[in-house]
Amino acid sequence: MPPEPQKATVTDIAKLNEDHTLFTLTPEKPFTFKAGQFLMIQFTDAEGTLTRRSYSIASPPSQNTIELCIRIVPDGKAGKYLSNLKKGDVVQISGPFGHFTVPDGETADVILIGAGTGIAPMRGIYKDLLAKGHAGKVHLFFGFRYISDFLFKDEIEELTAKHPNFIFHPICSRDENWKGDRGHVQSILEKYVPQDGRPKRAFVCGMMKMCQECQTVLEKLGVPAENIKIEGWG
Ligand SMILES: Cc1cc2nc3c(=O)[nH]c(=O)nc-3n(C[C@H](O)[C@H](O)[C@H](O)COP(=O)(O)OP(=O)(O)OC[C@H]3O[C@@H](n4cnc5c(N)ncnc54)[C@H](O)[C@@H]3O)c2cc1C
Repeated sequence: MPPEPQKATVTDIAKLNEDHTLFTLTPEKPFTFKAGQFLMIQFTDAEGTLTRRSYSIASPPSQNTIELCIRIVPDGKAGKYLSNLKKGDVVQISGPFGHFTVPDGETADVILIGAGTGIAPMRGIYKDLLAKGHAGKVHLFFGFRYISDFLFKDEIEELTAKHPNFIFHPICSRDENWKGDRGHVQSILEKYVPQDGRPKRAFVCGMMKMCQECQTVLEKLGVPAENIKIEGWG
């Protein structure tokens, strides 16, 4: 059984693009978690059934609010519930859950690979590592379909300008107007993951097939299997 849910107030709702919304929650009691973990939102669906859905925490633990980057599925049970939420509403959350976390005191280079909404836990992790002054490099690979799906663009660009050890590789699969790398994120790992013999730890989040393909390439590039964590959602 998941831990007893607690209340959190929806303190902000920001539309990031047509499908994605950033929900800011302020928990009633302190909610302790590690960057990369997820929580569950519990709600009563349209049929009156108590339902839970998992959402990665897209903000670092140092904040006293929790941000969730959610792709609203219009016909989904949570989709219907979430799209009706307003600022000031109270939601039931439980957690934290999961082991998609960087070990304490890690000094290795960290490779973060997110596709689509898979950027959500990465945002919590890179913000946390950079704020803590991570000693190694932090490589962020972000794959998206259209330029409008390039979530957190300004924020990521600001962080890359500020932190020389934060290296960002966006890749777009479908937009003809995109001038950078084209294709799926797994296709550029070989090009950009340095073969420099430095210890590396990798995190991959998105559709399971993409996660598995990234894992295969990363292992080929010398990242030990035990240093690769994947969180596949579909
Ligand atoms: C560990 C974990 C972390 C997650 N973190 C996030 C997160 O940070 N952000 C986020 O947006 N989601 C996240 N998810 C997915 C989320 O839990 C829900 O599955 C998603 O929001 C859909 O729920 P729903 O109730 O609206 O749809 P449902 O009622 O469960 O499904 C309705 C229909 O939509 C289809 N469907 C379900 N999910 C999707 C989808 N993603 N895209 C297209 N069709 C879909 C189903 O197959 C079904 O036909 C995470 C899942 C897991 C397991």
